[in-house]
Amino acid sequence: MTKHTHAFQAEVKQILHLVTHSLYSNKEIFLRELVSNASDACDKLRFEALDNAALYEDAPNLEVRIRFDEDAKTLTISDNGIGMSAEEAAAHLGTIAKSGTREFMAKLEGDQKKDAQLIGQFGVGFYSGFIVADRITVETRRAGLPASEGVRWSSEGTGEYDIETITKAGRGTDVILHLREGEEEFLKTWRVKSTVSKYSDHISLPILMRKETWDADNAKQVVTDEWEPINKASALWTRSKSEITPEQYEEFYKQISYDTEAPLAYTHNRVEGRSEYTQLLYIPKKAPFDLWNRDKRGGVKLYVKRVFIMDDAESLMPVYLRFVKGVIDSADLPLNVSRELLQESRDVKAIREGSTKRVLGMLESLANSEDAAEKQTYADFWKDFGQVLKEGIGEDHQNQERLAKLFRFASTQADEGVSLADYLGRMKEGQEAIYYITADSLSAAKHSPQLEIFRKKGIEVLLLVDRVDEWMLSHLYEFEGKPLQSVAKGSVDLGKLQDEEEKKKVKEAAEQFKPLLERLKTTLAERAKDVRVTTRLVDSPACIVVEEGDVSGHLARLLKQAGQ
Ligand code: ADP
Ligand code: MG
Repeated sequence: MTKHTHAFQAEVKQILHLVTHSLYSNKEIFLRELVSNASDACDKLRFEALDNAALYEDAPNLEVRIRFDEDAKTLTISDNGIGMSAEEAAAHLGTIAKSGTREFMAKLEGDQKKDAQLIGQFGVGFYSGFIVADRITVETRRAGLPASEGVRWSSEGTGEYDIETITKAGRGTDVILHLREGEEEFLKTWRVKSTVSKYSDHISLPILMRKETWDADNAKQVVTDEWEPINKASALWTRSKSEITPEQYEEFYKQISYDTEAPLAYTHNRVEGRSEYTQLLYIPKKAPFDLWNRDKRGGVKLYVKRVFIMDDAESLMPVYLRFVKGVIDSADLPLNVSRELLQESRDVKAIREGSTKRVLGMLESLANSEDAAEKQTYADFWKDFGQVLKEGIGEDHQNQERLAKLFRFASTQADEGVSLADYLGRMKEGQEAIYYITADSLSAAKHSPQLEIFRKKGIEVLLLVDRVDEWMLSHLYEFEGKPLQSVAKGSVDLGKLQDEEEKKKVKEAAEQFKPLLERLKTTLAERAKDVRVTTRLVDSPACIVVEEGDVSGHLARLLKQAGQ
């Protein structure tokens, strides 16, 4: 076949224009895209070879090679994957077949800023090579076709491309980038190496480059003939659970978290269905120093088909789980998705919900374990992370109940570890509410006169002394049908817990002390809304309470401290 010239489909022209003009500030992504295509091509070969092992020819080791030629100013990315026939090259590199792309292109307005945002919604792929190249030559041969049926595709990335037949001994594809003036940085080993390790470290094939050595005579680095892998190719999360040892899970955790200790727990799953992704999530043992910074980005890395997309993708985890570390690898998202787009993506929403459930599940299985060591693990977790988890009650309405079950408190019965379920189990006959008091410290809470009547009657009261508790209480009103009620607010109606005798006494006392109450009310008019007789005290003569629905005394103090 002689050389044939073809015109690009109109949409391709549009995309080419956009990609080269609006993605320049992030030009190195072309390597990510081309390496990802090479890796996809190897995956496809592996898949087809399941039925036809002959496709491997004499090269069963799938790999990607990157080389450059300083004189010719070319950078070449080669793979020995599936390759393309002439028809395939024309179809895949000359038109856009992906569903939705036409509609997408129709939305482009020619406004560069808006369009650049839109373009993040789908993959830019092969055409991103034109960001740094003024000509791309693709030499390819489909696995299974004879060497004489190789194809050379070539284009300057403007209106058209050429296709001709060549002889190509090895199967697979070479993508040769003729670098534009000024892009010589991609003719340096370190530049290519660092870009590949940034985005493609976990591609599961070896990515090879020629080794460099120091030439002492001429005092410079020289490229040798020897190939060496430049990626780790580990992608632990893509292997099946049964093939991974606990030590490997631990090692990977340390690698991604920079933690020196082993993690507290981890979960590893492949999720299929509406959204397809793999998650490997870890809970650290100790809280990081910046746990309290709510602006801190999450510790979850986002990958798309083993290609690194971004660190700390905060939309993948709710803020109250910001201590979780790990990797999420999506099969659906485009490679060049931006943070802004992540926030709107329905796939991401599904991932966040699924991952949140997994993390809560991990915590539940520790918290509810019969095993003493696991129970202790949960207690330790709670000490470090409990306050952050409490933020979730207002943030994540969907999981409110699951969260409330995970909470642990101090009470008049135990200094720590009291769950709401424990509390319900110990409620007195006829008790209608879960009672609590808030205070600055455990000892202040314990010595509060407002607890006297509860002590006397043997009713348990939760002692809430964390800063976040007031906020938690503004979202958590009840647990399993029992309201949470402050012992320091309103009149505290003990309802059925108070016998008729006591109620009568209060009435009598109110009559008897009427003159005193009146005098106190007048004297304290500026400072107290009301003065009344109470049954909540046993030994103390008086205590201060706030009106039901008002800011509690404790919160008032906190707000004052915060200067409000
Ligand atoms: P995507 O990878 O999202 O499909 P690209 O623009 O990156 O989009 O690539 C377009 C198509 O070109 C691929 O789907 C594939 O069919 C073909 N292609 C690109 N690079 C290669 C390669 N190295 N080997 C075989 N086919 C390739
Ligand atoms: Mg691609």
